[in-house]
Amino acid sequence: MIRAFSFTTEQNEPRIGIDTGEGRFDFTLIWEFFKDFKNFRQAPRLNFLQVMVEMDYFSQQTFEEVLEIVKSFRSLNDVRLDDSIRLDVPIARPQKILCLGRNYRAHAEEWGSEVPTEPMFFAKLTSALLPHQGEILIPDGIGRVDHEIELAIVIGKTAKRVPVSQAMEHVAGYTIGNDVSARDVQHAAMRKKHPWTLSKGLDTFCPMGPFLVPADAIDDPHALDLELRVNDEIKQKSNTRNMIFKIPELIAYISKNITLYAGDLILTGTPEGTLPIQPGDRIEARVEHCGTLVNRVGAI
Ligand code: MG
Repeated sequence: MIRAFSFTTEQNEPRIGIDTGEGRFDFTLIWEFFKDFKNFRQAPRLNFLQVMVEMDYFSQQTFEEVLEIVKSFRSLNDVRLDDSIRLDVPIARPQKILCLGRNYRAHAEEWGSEVPTEPMFFAKLTSALLPHQGEILIPDGIGRVDHEIELAIVIGKTAKRVPVSQAMEHVAGYTIGNDVSARDVQHAAMRKKHPWTLSKGLDTFCPMGPFLVPADAIDDPHALDLELRVNDEIKQKSNTRNMIFKIPELIAYISKNITLYAGDLILTGTPEGTLPIQPGDRIEARVEHCGTLVNRVGAI
């Protein structure tokens, strides 16, 4: 399985990397070798996963074809990446981030909320995005802050009034999101009938990554184990089969009234077990095939 990621070189150039299972490689440079070999000099340099998604090039099939050809005429040893590279958020500038609320029955019930009969979603601010290994910063006096592990999908092409039967064609890939929530602020807002924008949108409250896994690398996104640990202790454990509304229903429902664009993110909801985090904690969010998103918690 090929998993892609974003990183920045020491010279400050954004690049695309891939993890092939045999190591990590600089795909931006592999693509340049491929272009030279094929005489595709007019094709753009690929520095951003978002551009690859928008061009409809983002698939395991594309990565495999390019790798096979490049490996046929040169070694990849000089484009192998050190394990110490720091990853960026896979999609750093989506137009929007939408999140499902109460999309796992046991999570709705643990807060005494009714299990929804239609999808309930809200927006999270794109300025809240935080990469793998980034620090979640809890402002002093904000009260309880919870973790929420979620499978995140990245939209691959414009979706407007898409029927359920065609919805999966609009998914480019999958990553892991942590819908960090200022719970006391959220509950105060609910009592006052105010929106959730602040409680869900604080800076650093949307860790995302580490990889973007191409949609064609995952047979069934509704059969993935999810597990979140705080300081090595398991807090959330479920499987995406427990989602109330599945990915095709979510895309059809949202795109009826809101156009989804390539690179947009949808966080598909969290299972039960959301609990408070404190400065000093180490959060590990793992989704089967998608890797482990690790973040420390700090205070400001
Ligand atoms: Mg959530």
